[in-house]
Amino acid sequence: MDFRFSEEHEFFRTTVRDAVDRLIRPRAQEIDEAGEFPMDLWKEFAALGYLGLRHPEKYGGMEADVITSMIFYEELARASCGFAMSATMQILMGTYFVGRFGSEEIKQRVLVPAIKGEKIGTICFTEDQSGSDLGGTRTSAVQKDGGWVINGRKMWITNGPICDFCTVLAQTDPEKGMDGLSYFLVEKDTPGFSRGQKIEKLGSRGSVTGELIFDNVKVPAENLLGEGPGNGMRLSTDILNEVRVMTALNACAIANEAMSDARKYALQRVAFGKPIAKYQLIRAKFAKHWAWYEAARLYAYKAAWMIQEGMPCQFDCMLAKMFATEMCQKAVDEATRIYGGNSFASEYPPQRYFRDARFLLFGGGTHEVLQNALGAAYLRQGSST
Ligand SMILES: Cc1cc2nc3c(=O)[nH]c(=O)nc-3n(C[C@H](O)[C@H](O)[C@H](O)COP(=O)(O)OP(=O)(O)OC[C@H]3O[C@@H](n4cnc5c(N)ncnc54)[C@H](O)[C@@H]3O)c2cc1C
Repeated sequence: MDFRFSEEHEFFRTTVRDAVDRLIRPRAQEIDEAGEFPMDLWKEFAALGYLGLRHPEKYGGMEADVITSMIFYEELARASCGFAMSATMQILMGTYFVGRFGSEEIKQRVLVPAIKGEKIGTICFTEDQSGSDLGGTRTSAVQKDGGWVINGRKMWITNGPICDFCTVLAQTDPEKGMDGLSYFLVEKDTPGFSRGQKIEKLGSRGSVTGELIFDNVKVPAENLLGEGPGNGMRLSTDILNEVRVMTALNACAIANEAMSDARKYALQRVAFGKPIAKYQLIRAKFAKHWAWYEAARLYAYKAAWMIQEGMPCQFDCMLAKMFATEMCQKAVDEATRIYGGNSFASEYPPQRYFRDARFLLFGGGTHEVLQNALGAAYLRQGSST
């Protein structure tokens, strides 16, 4: 067993960290307060090439391995969760199906500019009436004149208000429920596509979120992304594993930022004649956080390694996500307690970590939905060790 990162991975981490600290960190507070997508920063960041992290070099990508990509997601979330959400959407879910199933022409038209940051993508699962329960998807796609006609509304779409293209989950065979779902590429200029309300959010505010409307949107047959209709859920497994581990590492990053700031605060804040860091109850918070953080991060990288090795790891990815995101809730809560009343002031960072961390509980499967699946799996088979 060797728990060390390779020299290449360490070097990559240092390079990303430098870029994130130079470009994003100084603007994190401003991005959060504005609640707008920082397009100028996006362009500057895209020029570094990271948006093509997982895509083939022939389309302008970096073809990075899974561990490299996870290092990137972790470093990015250290500075601004909002910016990280938009960027990771572009790198992972927003371009995955186009990259894997798009025709050569689609890849040239959509993927290549997306990797350069010239086009923004997203994925649309969620609807007003269905989030966790994708079997309840009402958006439909019906075959007509050799293509497909899409009707429906999607809610809570990251990058929705600014996207140039989206991958839409639609029902192609209502009688089959989950087995009747398929993915379609829709570009913003397609007649019948429009944007609904932008959602004002509690956290992750630098990434804009909103509703997308599909009103008799006609797309050609090649815009069905997958191996024929009805394969949507089956084809989602690989990318969902990556999304879950990415979310786990986002959580580790936010937790670590929150508690690192709290550490500095505890060392200099004086109460009853000495720094609060001298009090046992404050020290206990750091001790517990340290243990949970190390365990969560270790498990997240183990799950990443399992993906990379092509091992079955669906439950490991779920466990990593569930544990790390809960650890993060605890860490941001403790950080705000250590800051006392100042945690309530906008000028101090803990409130931003506290708000941002909430999103991690939902994306990639809610805590409860993951627990349901994991509890059932444990009862069936026990732990894997
Ligand atoms: C900031 C943000 C960005 C997002 N971006 C996107 C995006 O880009 N694209 C997209 O498609 N979606 C996006 N979403 C939506 C997200 O994927 C959903 O919020 C998530 O899937 C949960 O669905 P829901 O909110 O409808 O909750 P519901 O599914 O309605 O769940 C409500 C509550 O019931 C619980 N619950 C549901 N089913 C069960 C069960 N079987 N057992 C026990 N408890 C259960 C849930 O855990 C939760 O506590 C985003 C959400 C947020 C907050």
